[in-house]
Amino acid sequence: MSETAYWGCGVEGVRRNSVLVQHAVRTEGTTAWCGASVRPVMIDGWHVPFVPTGTASCRECARRWEQAAKMAQKTALQGP
Ligand SMILES: [Zn+2]
Repeated sequence: MSETAYWGCGVEGVRRNSVLVQHAVRTEGTTAWCGASVRPVMIDGWHVPFVPTGTASCRECARRWEQAAKMAQKTALQGP
């Protein structure tokens, strides 16, 4: 189990320029990886995964996600 598997998509309560910035957040959490206050995006009890390459993805969360993914790849390779 890689650390990134615990992180899903989260959004802030307010929109910035009508675009919802997507952060990485734990399913039960309210604080994104970068420190922003967010709420997890849930669909029928399923936590939507965080996509670091998304156009609306938080740069800081994506950077941390990719660092964790690199660490995880030392033990197990995961596809996109
Ligand atoms: Zn973020």
